[in-house]
Amino acid sequence: MNASIRRRGSRTPAVHAPRWPNGRRSCVALAFDLDGPTGDAMLDGSIWNNPSYFMLGSYGPWRALERLLDLLNERGVPATFFVPAWVIENWPRQCARILEGGHEIAYHGYRHEAFWTLDRAGQRDVMARCIDVFSRYLGIRPVGFRTPSGDWSPDTIHVLMEAGVRYSSSMRGDDRPYLLHAEGFAAPLVEIPGRWELDDYASLAYHRNPDFPASLDRIASYDTTLDNWRREFDGSHRDGLCLTTLFHPKVSGKPGRIALLEQLIEHMREQGDVWFATCRDVAQWWLDEAESVHTLESSV
Ligand SMILES: [Zn+2]
Repeated sequence: MNASIRRRGSRTPAVHAPRWPNGRRSCVALAFDLDGPTGDAMLDGSIWNNPSYFMLGSYGPWRALERLLDLLNERGVPATFFVPAWVIENWPRQCARILEGGHEIAYHGYRHEAFWTLDRAGQRDVMARCIDVFSRYLGIRPVGFRTPSGDWSPDTIHVLMEAGVRYSSSMRGDDRPYLLHAEGFAAPLVEIPGRWELDDYASLAYHRNPDFPASLDRIASYDTTLDNWRREFDGSHRDGLCLTTLFHPKVSGKPGRIALLEQLIEHMREQGDVWFATCRDVAQWWLDEAESVHTLESSV
């Protein structure tokens, strides 16, 4: 185990704390879902009768993204953007800036389809369309995927592997990456799980007409939100884990809220031993680590 991974305070030493590059204590893979106006209202067509709701989503790629990229680039922190292909078709110049900043773009459906509602053929169609758009508009073939609307069907992992996806950031269940094995594929899929505590919708997304998220009747205090995020990071860093976010530019990239991200990043950077990485690099590291452990076990 890496000598730099130690718990602070009176807690017992971390068990199963992963090893990170260059002796870094913990890993942070900042991730943003650039949904724009895609989602349920676009899938059922109702968004075309609700221009203000459309504009609310468009604010992400049209306005907030630039502000967010300026912050990330200024601080030298890489990030991953999960982007529905429809957003790339409609804001190609803005999306190209993500790549120009050295960040990663990965799959997030075509119009934010709920994969768990589609059969295998339907999921394949969505992925084929995404591959085509990413190639034509950005000249890239992503290797990452975050499921829109939060869940999979039993077919999803096969569809992803067929599409050349090598990691997903869709599940929960751990605070470290883990490997998923699909029948018929030798290589595993790396899962980099997220958590609702680090989803900005949970604290900051409330809006009216339509009331969404349902049952959330107000936004949280900004101070409380920042404090919550910091504490989640502190625990992750203390235990040497992997933290990723489910942030959305249209939610946290607003003029007042961008300061929360700025302060969160500063707090992380102040620790001095955080590995900031794209999800793609985290997945590759995790695969390499699994391979080296396997090699070690095979040689004894
Ligand atoms: Zn999304």
